[in-house]
Amino acid sequence: MRTEAVIYLNRFKDNINAVKARIGKERRICVPVKANGYGHGALKIAKKSLEYGAYCLGVATVKEGIELRKGGIKAPVLLFSQPHPDEIPEILEARLSPFLSDIEFTSILNSLAGKKKIKLPVHLKIDTGMGRIGCPVNEAASLAKHIKKCAALELTGTATHLAVSDSADSNDINYTAMQLKLFKKAIAAIKNAGVNPGIVHAANSGAVILHPEAWFDMVRPGILLYGYKAADEYELPLASLKKMSKFKALQIEPVMELKSTVTLIKKIKKGETVSYGRTWTVAQDTFIAIIPTGYGDGFPRLASGRWQVEIGGELYPVAGRICMDQCCIDIGPKPGVQRWDEVIIFGSRQQTADEIIIRQSAADLAKAVRTIPYEITCNINRRVPRVYKE
Ligand SMILES: *Cc1c(COP(=O)(O)O)cnc(C)c1O
Repeated sequence: MRTEAVIYLNRFKDNINAVKARIGKERRICVPVKANGYGHGALKIAKKSLEYGAYCLGVATVKEGIELRKGGIKAPVLLFSQPHPDEIPEILEARLSPFLSDIEFTSILNSLAGKKKIKLPVHLKIDTGMGRIGCPVNEAASLAKHIKKCAALELTGTATHLAVSDSADSNDINYTAMQLKLFKKAIAAIKNAGVNPGIVHAANSGAVILHPEAWFDMVRPGILLYGYKAADEYELPLASLKKMSKFKALQIEPVMELKSTVTLIKKIKKGETVSYGRTWTVAQDTFIAIIPTGYGDGFPRLASGRWQVEIGGELYPVAGRICMDQCCIDIGPKPGVQRWDEVIIFGSRQQTADEIIIRQSAADLAKAVRTIPYEITCNINRRVPRVYKE
């Protein structure tokens, strides 16, 4: 075994069920599988999501959508990012449902879909304060009317995206409430204009945890389903906390574990240095274990000197700089570690009598290198095999 990312599908299933239990059976789930399923393998995660009861999938690029269709996915695939008109033939061929923000793109899409005699399901995207794609709130109704008049398009959903739904800070809670108010106003205007908005959706992971009023007809949690809590309901201000207390606490587990192997053990003498830049000088005679994992696999170089790996249940520090394909671990002067031992870089799980502890999760690693767990799992390179366990 070299480096591998173990993907625990049973945990993914449990996470979907936890979200379902929270939002209620009447609501649907869209699983974002963009960026190779946040690094977990897009096609496998897509298939399992549908098997576990998700309604549809979300991708960022046309290529990602095509990959799902080629893999046999028949469910609706939402295209979250604004595509280029050059990509429209592929969008039509793969029957992807783009988020529409403006009349110009909508019209080109309609005319090309018409030529191919396709009726393409699309979603209207409204910018209520994310400041990214989406039409302005006061143009939502007219864009909806325009889409309704497009013979080759069918409006099957209306969405917005929340900028700070993962923050329990009271300013951010208020900002989200403002976004939701504008969204409801736009939905009402669309209905008043005689257009059916289709499936109404807004909630990302943060909103599934903190904002029940954002759940509407469908939720789109990504990072939460992959096992990281984007927010903590216990940090909410009291009034919001009370509102949440009628829901069962969300229990989720990280789906990915990054593993490797000790491929060599070496004695290093006092005063010698380890790895590039000679940033780590050995204070006393010690042993180092060489691990064939580096930043080329997605183990961030910034974790050099800031992370420990787990070998045989013990934690050992990274020694010196993490290289592209390898790193060195200080296993001490009398190591209990043996060559070929398994190494857990992040995501190790321990089950005690009454609780499950994920030691050193991707979220902890993210904190150590000042980023978010999304970036850690997304960056696990394609050369790292994904090993699926049910
Ligand atoms: C990525 C994305 C999501 C999921 O976000 P999480 O923070 O992972 O829950 C939802 N909706 C849109 C439009 C996205 O691009």
